[in-house]
Amino acid sequence: MSKNSFQVEHRYLELPDSFYSRVQPSPLSEPRMVCFNQALASDMGFLVRDENDWAAIGAGAELLEGMDPVAMKYTGHQFGMYNPELGDGRGLLLWETVGPDGTRWDWHLKGAGTTPYSRFGDGRAVLRSTIREYLCSEAMHGLGIPTTRALFMISAKDPVRRESIETAAALMRVAKSHIRFGHFEFAAHHEGPEALKTLLEHVIALHFPHLISLPEEQRYARWFEEVVERTARLIAKWQAVGFCHGVMNSDNMSIIGDTFDYGPFAFLDDFDAGFVCNHSDHEGRYAYNRQPQVGFINCQYLANALLPIMDEDTVRRGLRRYETAYNEHFKHQMLAKLGLEEADGSDMGLIMDTFSMLHEHRVDYTRFFRGLSNLHDHGTAPVRDLFADRSVADEWLERYEARLQKETRGHDEREYAMRRVNPKYILRNYLAQQVILEAQNGDYEPMKELLKVLEKPFDEQPEYEKYAALPPDWGKHLNISCSS
Ligand code: AMP
Ligand code: MG
Repeated sequence: MSKNSFQVEHRYLELPDSFYSRVQPSPLSEPRMVCFNQALASDMGFLVRDENDWAAIGAGAELLEGMDPVAMKYTGHQFGMYNPELGDGRGLLLWETVGPDGTRWDWHLKGAGTTPYSRFGDGRAVLRSTIREYLCSEAMHGLGIPTTRALFMISAKDPVRRESIETAAALMRVAKSHIRFGHFEFAAHHEGPEALKTLLEHVIALHFPHLISLPEEQRYARWFEEVVERTARLIAKWQAVGFCHGVMNSDNMSIIGDTFDYGPFAFLDDFDAGFVCNHSDHEGRYAYNRQPQVGFINCQYLANALLPIMDEDTVRRGLRRYETAYNEHFKHQMLAKLGLEEADGSDMGLIMDTFSMLHEHRVDYTRFFRGLSNLHDHGTAPVRDLFADRSVADEWLERYEARLQKETRGHDEREYAMRRVNPKYILRNYLAQQVILEAQNGDYEPMKELLKVLEKPFDEQPEYEKYAALPPDWGKHLNISCSS
């Protein structure tokens, strides 16, 4: 099938058995390979001769030697309420591989059938949401934002009931870890301090090896600080790129700080600070501008779970890292987006005023910053044209040009650097919607083309200009179903 240069491991099975249930996948019928990530496979240490050979594995009809599928047990806070019943309800951890560069990869088959944690669910995933997850994880990776990845996805004949009957699909999601904040909540609230310690040591050994040699108290303290900081930095990156996650429950928070679990997510088109992309989120708990706060609340849930084995003051100190790490990283990102390198006391004011203006005038977030990255090549028109009232743009541009006078970098150098942080291409909801419709009609080529563009979001790619266009009116406020 393929030439492997990875090692097989399954370190998750070293945890106490309460952390998982062994489950065989329920096979899907007549699977068809939709998309295979050859570049990722090669990074992971294997070469694929025929992608179609992997379809049966994606369908859960075949396992490779060494695969030992388990559904992971975790709990978590969903919309602020603790739910003890969670766990992999439709995904199975198949094994872990270690690539030639030493990177560890969990292989998780999402859509593999029911497990003891499925509750009322059918254990399946549909084509629509699987394509969205595939596209978004690869788009985030292209943007340089930590994320789980998509190795391949299949579609199948089986009908799946959602609001209507849809096509079944499955995604081979890979990540350096599938351990969530919710794993710690499960250990703390149901298993006791020994299990919690075992989980913590497992995570440190695999993902924070630089902490291993520290004495226990320091090791735990530093580890928690690092998790808090990674979470803060991740969310600062989301804010800077205009990404809304939509379901920031603590069971969807990765312990290593990856973007995890793509549901009703959205990238902002017209900037709206209070944008809510999840249509079941009636109170706007996970609105774009609440994400930094929610990230902190999730760190508090994790902190609570650590209290049985960590001192309260230490945990509190760790939590305090959140605000500083978030503010520092957010400012750093925004200054880079504006092309500002020289320190200037007024910059935070400029950043906040810019957000207020984008919000008030509902300016397309991505095109605004990309336009600023080409001012000296393309002039001010691409920026001004985003405003119904051009005088607002002119006033802002005047202030910005005045600020640029303090910069010592040349225009060309600055704008080149800005184009490496301000994407031209993002996964707008309407673009995803278009390729999903084509895929539902059996044509996966449009999805593959979009994927190719999103892999290099900072490159001009003039032949794909259409993917950088403003959304048409129908595409601006799509109702993305959360039933995935
Ligand atoms: P999510 O909202 O995707 O993060 O899912 C929350 C929980 O519901 C997780 O424990 C999932 O495994 C489970 N779940 C979601 N969809 C299904 C489904 N179709 N069948 C079984 N479990 C599901
Ligand atoms: Mg989830």
